[in-house]
Amino acid sequence: MNFNLRLQVNLLPHNTFKISVISDYFIEFFSIEMLQEALIFLKSRKIPYLVLGGGSNVLFTQNFRGLILKNGLKGKEIIQEDNDFVWIKVYSGENWHELVEFCVNSNWGGIENLALIPGTVGAAPIQNIGAYGAELKDVFFSLEALHIPSGEIRTFFLQDCAFGYRDSIFKREYKNLYIILTVTLKLQKKPVLNYSYADVQRYFEKNDLQPSIYNIFQAVISIRKEKLPDPNEVGNAGSFFKNPYVSRDLFHHIQAKYPQMPSYPVDNQTYKIPAAWLIEQCGWKGFRSGNYGVHPKQPLVLVNYGNAPGKQIYELAQKIQQSVKQKFDIELEPEVNIF
Ligand code: FAD
Ligand code: NAP
Repeated sequence: MNFNLRLQVNLLPHNTFKISVISDYFIEFFSIEMLQEALIFLKSRKIPYLVLGGGSNVLFTQNFRGLILKNGLKGKEIIQEDNDFVWIKVYSGENWHELVEFCVNSNWGGIENLALIPGTVGAAPIQNIGAYGAELKDVFFSLEALHIPSGEIRTFFLQDCAFGYRDSIFKREYKNLYIILTVTLKLQKKPVLNYSYADVQRYFEKNDLQPSIYNIFQAVISIRKEKLPDPNEVGNAGSFFKNPYVSRDLFHHIQAKYPQMPSYPVDNQTYKIPAAWLIEQCGWKGFRSGNYGVHPKQPLVLVNYGNAPGKQIYELAQKIQQSVKQKFDIELEPEVNIF
């Protein structure tokens, strides 16, 4: 056997919520061959499995009675280049933020707004990561993924991935069917900068800076450090819920009662309402019970202050969903993957 099988492994160091649960089996793979051997083991046991990158978008509510496949695939290469673009192929176990830093230092544009998002490159397509007006799909070229049932490797292009708002085909039809091995991004040599978000504009004004790839990268890092809890200090998985898209009718109905409600038009028929505002209106901002709660600065982030069980955090999430539904008739959908 070319892999290191571990038994009864505590997943606390492998999830940013810092939930202590045990996985029956655990294999970290550093090559595609190791992964293929691990899959032979998996098939011989017929047990559940879960691919794990940085564990920054998962909440474990119970012990995992199966095999964790921890992604250790590393490496990156430029596969094509012309006057306008560069195509970079990156192995899926690479750290996302380190990739952003590498691209910013090379002056390649497109992912600077996505600085400081924790986790791996391979997880980025799963929910089409996004922040400050940019999404992975804007620079996505292709990915290679291993189909777990057949062992075949397939290439997916942009149109195959059904990317949506924090969504892709890998969260739906192909959920848990593929392991993403590499991701190829097409980055700009003549960057198109996006600094539309108010926090970024304020940062530029305050520090008297001109927009550039590097300055957007620095602005995003600085704003995020100020606003978001560091998972190394307080367990969390970023935004727990997606920002809801609501119909025009419902939007006008709520706005009549709450004229100060922030909102962003998505198209003629749909509005985006920040989930953080809805949660705050329901009185949850800064809520704390024992060792878990709602972050005092960002109510969209649920936090584990100590050894809180994942089940309690999940129950809190359900209570928040119920109160938002009751007050606004909006159903908040979790962004975090719950196991
Ligand atoms: P994991 O948590 O390990 O996995 C997430 C899901 O993807 C799981 O279902 C897993 O099975 C699957 N998966 C992981 N790797 C693979 C693979 N190689 N092949 C197939 N399936 C795989 N997200 C945003 O979109 N925008 C943000 O701005 C943002 N900010 C965050 C800030 C903080 C402080 C935190 C803690 C999280 C934030 N997130 C954000 C969420 C999270 O960082 C991203 O979703 C990230 O892409 C998850 O990467 P990961 O490697 O940790 O994935
Ligand atoms: P923010 O800038 O205070 O904005 C609040 C909400 O309003 C965000 O959800 C954002 O939607 C929306 N918004 C703000 N300005 C907008 C604009 N110009 N056009 C369209 N929508 C706009 O949000 P924040 O909490 O500090 O987060 C900043 C960014 O980082 C956001 O993009 C957020 O999604 C991202 N983030 C994500 C996570 C995560 O775990 N997923 C965690 C932290 C931060 P969008 O969410 O669609 O951008």
